[in-house]
Amino acid sequence: TEEAFARIEAVDADVQAFLALNKEKALEQADAMDQTPLEDRGPLFGLPIGVKDNIVTEGLETTCASKILEGFNPIYDATVVRKLRDAGLITVGKINMDEFAMGSSNENSAYKKTKNPWNLEHVPGGSSGGSAAAVAAGEVPFALGSDTGGSIRQPAAFCGVVGMKPTYGRVSRFGLVAFASSLDQIGPITRTVEDNALLLEAISGVDEMDSTSANVEVPKFSEAIGKSIKGLRIGVPKEYMGEGVSEEVRASVLEALKVLEAQGAVWEEVSLPHSEYALATYYLLSSSEASSNLARFDGIRYGYRAEEAKNLLELYKLTRAQGFGDEVKRRIMLGTYSLSAGSYDAYYLKAQKVRTLIKQDFENVFENYDVIVGPTTPTPAFKVGEKVDDPLTMYANDILTIPVNLAGVPGISIPCGFADGLPLGLQIIGKHFDESTIYQVASAYE
Ligand code: GLN
Repeated sequence: TEEAFARIEAVDADVQAFLALNKEKALEQADAMDQTPLEDRGPLFGLPIGVKDNIVTEGLETTCASKILEGFNPIYDATVVRKLRDAGLITVGKINMDEFAMGSSNENSAYKKTKNPWNLEHVPGGSSGGSAAAVAAGEVPFALGSDTGGSIRQPAAFCGVVGMKPTYGRVSRFGLVAFASSLDQIGPITRTVEDNALLLEAISGVDEMDSTSANVEVPKFSEAIGKSIKGLRIGVPKEYMGEGVSEEVRASVLEALKVLEAQGAVWEEVSLPHSEYALATYYLLSSSEASSNLARFDGIRYGYRAEEAKNLLELYKLTRAQGFGDEVKRRIMLGTYSLSAGSYDAYYLKAQKVRTLIKQDFENVFENYDVIVGPTTPTPAFKVGEKVDDPLTMYANDILTIPVNLAGVPGISIPCGFADGLPLGLQIIGKHFDESTIYQVASAYE
């Protein structure tokens, strides 16, 4: 833990991953843990971890990188934070992100712009860009992120680390500030696949505080590490290897497939025919859910409150006008519009139907294949400022990760080579609740 703080001190002025440090309490916790008998110490005992700032931590400011939550000190811990403590992990601080997890570059944070440790002129990805950058820069060996449309996997790819979005329902969302509740999942970001499996084991499981958490057994994911992949069947969607995906990215995936083939796995081209509608479907549904979830930030209950308001309505309006950033407002407007009486059938309901088709695409492929493999992102990390004025190009970055959230299946990104000195990510997607096979394949490649 001391080493983590020393490293943060040394590099965070450049990387800018942390929003708040928990130094005093973390060192106290670490000291107290000396008393724990050796036989009660699990594999993650005493290790430092950083937590994305949309996961509530008792007594430690939680802002979602938004001005509207400035000064908000939660009175309880998220279920995952409690589970981290139970596993002996030490939360060293809260990590920067795009405001309310909306973004792909960390440029939507109200507080700072995290940089890519591989090249500070490039973005770390988003929205869990701070978590991925902190792990890549060696500030912490473990971090938690959240993934609604790619926010764990895309930054993991951009920063050359391992990031898993678990099956929807695998990890409790209690205490995760909701963006799009039907898509959000918390997941681990680590340097190695084995670390990732161990951390997922620690945070998984049904929770009476989250009715969407699934009552299914949590396997020992780490037992899948190093298991033979002989005979395993891999589907490679042609939609993930075509137009828009850079030559280097495609080449790196084909190289990775050779490595897996050499170990006895077989791969074939498959199709996820509704992929082209995923982006539009996601931005309609996620913005609709966000417009409802973010209604609670009214200046009364949490964080920031506009001072000059003369009556209650003005207080709501001014607080929200001053507290939310541009991207969040854009999504609230889009979502409110698509849920309104005149457009509900044409947009929201239609998008729900397309979501079902996308889910069925995955089910069809998984009838014949164990995992789906492709790139995580169409290109390596782009430059700071490059896409900031063009929301649609920014959204297009998530084209390969979003279908996974819509289908609710698990997906990981692992490092898979470099282009121009920047890391690339390999995405491995599995069946519902079959994270084990993903870890098995990931470790075979790693
Ligand atoms: N970049 C996507 C968005 O802006 C995904 C975000 C996420 O997964 N939280 O919505």
